[in-house]
Amino acid sequence: MTETIKTTCTLDCQDACGVEAEVENGRVVRLRGAEDHPYTEGFLCIRLNRYLDRLYSPERVTSPLQKTKGGWRGISWDDAIDLAAGKFRAAVDEYGPAAILYFASSGSFGISNRYNVRLFNRLGGPTVASGSLCLSAGVAGMVQSLGQSVSPAPSEMMNSRMIVLWGRNPAAYSIHMVPLIRKARERGAEIVLIDPVRSESAKLCGRHYAPRPGGDGYLALAVCKYLLEEGKADREFLENAAANAAAIERMCHRFSWEELSAGCGLSVETLREIATLFGVNHPAAVCMGRGPQHYRQGAETTRLILAACAVSGNLGVKGGGYNYNSDFWGPFDRSLNGGEFATSHRTAPKATIGEAILSLKDPHIRAAYIHGGNPVTQCPNSRKVARAIRSIDFVTVVDSFMTDTAECADLFLPSAMFLETRDVRPAGWNPYVGPVMPAVPPPEGVRPDWEIVGLLARKLGIEDPHLGQPVEEFLQASLAPIEKHGLDPARAINEVFRNPGCPRVPFEDGVFATPSGKFEFLEEWEPDENPEVDERYPLRLLSLKYQRYQSSQVPESKQKEAETTVWLHPETATRFGLGEGVSGRLHSPSGECEVRFALDEGLRRDVCLARSGGWLKKGHGVNVLTADVLTSSGECSGYYETRVCPVARA
Ligand code: SF4
Repeated sequence: MTETIKTTCTLDCQDACGVEAEVENGRVVRLRGAEDHPYTEGFLCIRLNRYLDRLYSPERVTSPLQKTKGGWRGISWDDAIDLAAGKFRAAVDEYGPAAILYFASSGSFGISNRYNVRLFNRLGGPTVASGSLCLSAGVAGMVQSLGQSVSPAPSEMMNSRMIVLWGRNPAAYSIHMVPLIRKARERGAEIVLIDPVRSESAKLCGRHYAPRPGGDGYLALAVCKYLLEEGKADREFLENAAANAAAIERMCHRFSWEELSAGCGLSVETLREIATLFGVNHPAAVCMGRGPQHYRQGAETTRLILAACAVSGNLGVKGGGYNYNSDFWGPFDRSLNGGEFATSHRTAPKATIGEAILSLKDPHIRAAYIHGGNPVTQCPNSRKVARAIRSIDFVTVVDSFMTDTAECADLFLPSAMFLETRDVRPAGWNPYVGPVMPAVPPPEGVRPDWEIVGLLARKLGIEDPHLGQPVEEFLQASLAPIEKHGLDPARAINEVFRNPGCPRVPFEDGVFATPSGKFEFLEEWEPDENPEVDERYPLRLLSLKYQRYQSSQVPESKQKEAETTVWLHPETATRFGLGEGVSGRLHSPSGECEVRFALDEGLRRDVCLARSGGWLKKGHGVNVLTADVLTSSGECSGYYETRVCPVARA
């Protein structure tokens, strides 16, 4: 007999698809999109379509493991919890709560995992791995200029006369945006791609502009300059809804067209052409990708692109807006993370976690709890991260596979995966929140994350109504804030609902959530980068995600290829004596790795493109090359500050 379970995808992706899982004889046999989901409307991406390979992978770890001198050995859950609890208690008693590193990431986007830090706050407050590897500089820029991170409803794109995909690649990573773009194009909207890479989304667009990597701020400022100089700026917005319009006028005056052109690597004519598009196509929706904020000045770049939206009159209007992210905490009670119990509030940015672990003192990091993430593979400067994690006295990793990070640990606790556990998950851009239902129980020997935390709490003698309680009760408690909007948490944990904090058109009333209540332009801008390249590392490394798998959730059996592929423009390849299929190395100040070169005419000549997510132990892992650079705001990773030199194998 076939049973169908309705649930919501928890992969680390903004869409949060409604999913139907068909179960036969206790096994999930098929996944399909839930047609009644108001945004994702019945189709799934390739990442989830391949998910059952991972769920039923023979590589999955299904019992707790302890590392011994002779290697990993299986132990019982009782022994594993005893061991971990004893180590955490000893670290707190001897060195204080900050001696524990708590590292959580978005391996599952279910909200319950976001609260696991409560356990460690009850112990006095761990050192929390802070910021994010993906989007927090962009969020910081939004908060600084808009007062909050909120995006328009996706359907507003139907009112757009222009859609700008600025570093965004929906054809690969936001596939539910694609039908909207196609429909908008059919209705006559101009679709523009701004990206150093001619991505899969170029085919959706009528125009493609490829600025210099890291040159987006100059390009955005050029749009502002043109509109102000040509009398096409939205004067009403600048006078009534902006706190400091003089700042952007001053900045535009300060930079000449030639400086802006040199800064973004596009001719003055091209800059004027792009700016003209903003002048004549109103309203315009800007859909931001993560790339432009993966530089030291990621937040400043975000604010300059927001400035272009503001000056062109595209904020607070139907069909306009800045589409990047909406704060997932909106409907949830964040205070349940137990911050009030913490006496220590030390943080260590994820983007520089290796350096942080190695350098933190008073106390040093003595124990770590890592769940929902694979920092060795995903964080910049992988080898330093691995060295740092190995330097910690006792590391517990909660995961489903023996990842690069798990290999550095002392204790492995196997966790339940999507389709095996109960949760609620918010989307990251569309406004919907969906229930996550178990379609099948986890394998014998595997526990959901929330249950593991409950077991640890009990062993540590922590009596807490929110640790170890039935997960549905906890989920209801987490949704208490929606009651003031007339929604019932008991019902909401079982059905898709619209986040009441996401308006269709943010800032339509001209009021922003900033201290001034107005849009706040970046006051000053000092570009920190000399466009001159470092001769030893002449190419910029751009590392994009795998399309077929989510982040580093790539089955080991699919990583058999011996070398990582990197792409170069054919002229760049010739310059370095390389060609299609040639093996060699990529060097950066952080390290080197074996690669195989491939050619792509759609690339700029000053970049080298790789896919991230492969594991070091499988001979991949492009983050051995990336720079552990922090953005100026938002504690995000400046991955794209990495420069490399390609070399053919001798
Ligand atoms: S990964 Fe994203 S697009 Fe793919 S099924 Fe999950 S939520 Fe949908």
